[in-house]
Order: sequence, then structure tokens, then C-alpha cells
Amino acid sequence: MDFRGLVKFTLVDYPGKIGCIVFSGGCNLRCPFCHNPCLVLDPTSQPRVTEKEFFHFLERRKGLLEGVVFSGGEPLLQPDALEMIGKVRAMGYAVKIDTNGTLPDRVRTVLDTCGADAFGIDCKAPKASYQAMTRSSDADVAEKVYKSIKMALDSGAEVDIRTTVHRALLDEKALETIYKELTAAGVKTWTLQQYNPVEVIDDELSSKPTFTDADLVHIAHRLGPGVRVRGLSGRIVEKA
Ligand code: SF4
Repeated sequence: MDFRGLVKFTLVDYPGKIGCIVFSGGCNLRCPFCHNPCLVLDPTSQPRVTEKEFFHFLERRKGLLEGVVFSGGEPLLQPDALEMIGKVRAMGYAVKIDTNGTLPDRVRTVLDTCGADAFGIDCKAPKASYQAMTRSSDADVAEKVYKSIKMALDSGAEVDIRTTVHRALLDEKALETIYKELTAAGVKTWTLQQYNPVEVIDDELSSKPTFTDADLVHIAHRLGPGVRVRGLSGRIVEKA
């Protein structure tokens, strides 16, 4: 896999587990709020982590770390992602896959072959504006994401459906629409994720006003049951 980053310790990216997170380069979307623009737009600019280094690290952390998060970019774009996930699970680690959900065939193959213990799947916009929001070339992008969500939910794996919120992109009405669409798809828990004002793909976003963590908590209450908020710190500040 084209690993382009490894965070050796995290308590927030794999809820309930002491984990590490490995990032792969490249993505098929161009979300304006993406806080990994280098990984998406120019992955080779990031220092490479070889597979040998990655597995050596995991060998040494056996018994200390519980889970490994495959993130990106979009990790399921990598041709050998399934083989890597299988190898990591065979070492005794739980695996969470953070995916944009646009590759339901790959999600299906993961479930049918190497398996996964958890998924983090992004839901980036109301269905009607999904393609525009993500600057995808695929007119069926929303349909594909919902297909991935359904497969992950049906698999019995832990599933975290999350939406990054910046007020300039998603107002309360848009959030209400997503809530209705996710609820209709059988999603019981949805995470509103605070926008991180670092370097992002659309560099004008960080200068525009957005919701505070407290605003998102109020919105979560107004939307209804099953909505939680991940604040700027990366931690859950409001449970569903
Ligand atoms: S936010 Fe995720 S899906 Fe969107 S461009 Fe960045 S890495 Fe890709």
C-alpha cells in the first residue's frame, strides 16, 4: 500500500480502543473541507512509510495497541488494501476502515474476504447535492455511499457515520435533510464532526464563520435522537 503517514497512538480515531492510524495517499473526491489536502492532491509530497516499517511497528506494539485505523485519502482505492487489512487482523489487531463509501464493491469484497471490525463512513451532504459537494465525477456517488452504509450496517461491524460540518457548506436545513435520509436508510447513530480550521482543500473556508461546538450540540438536540457531536478536540462532546 502507498502509506503516507502513521500516527502511532490515538485514543479518538478508533472509539473505545487504543489505536494507531495509517494514512494512504490519493482520493477520488475533492471535498472542500478536507484537512488532508497534501495526501489527496499530492501524495508523493508526503514521506512514505514502507510496509516493512509499518509491520515492524505493529510487531513491536503487540499487547500495547488494540486497533489499527486505515485512513487516507481513500484507503480502499489501494489495490492491495484487502491483503494488508487481512495481515493486520491476523496479527490480532482490530481493524477500522475510514472510507468515503464511494466504492461499495470494495466494501463488499472486504466483508467477504479479510473482514473488518469497524467502519467510519462519511456522509458529506444531502443526496441531492452530494456530487457537487464532493466534486465527484460520478453522478451516482450518493447512491454508492448509501449502498456502502447499508452493507456495513448489515455486516454487524461497528459503524460510525459522520458528517463534517461547516456552516458555509451545510446549514441547519441541510443537516435536517441528511438526518432524514440517514434515518430512512436505517442509521441509528450519526456523528456531527466539527470542521477543523487547518489547511484544507478550499482555503477560503477557514476565514468564513461556522458553528461552534455548542451550536452543534444545540442542533443535535433539535434534530432528534441518535445524533452526537465530535468537537474540535476530536473527542465526543455530546453523546447520542
Ligand atoms: S475528506 Fe476524505 S473523501 Fe474528501 S477529499 Fe479528503 S480524504 Fe477524500
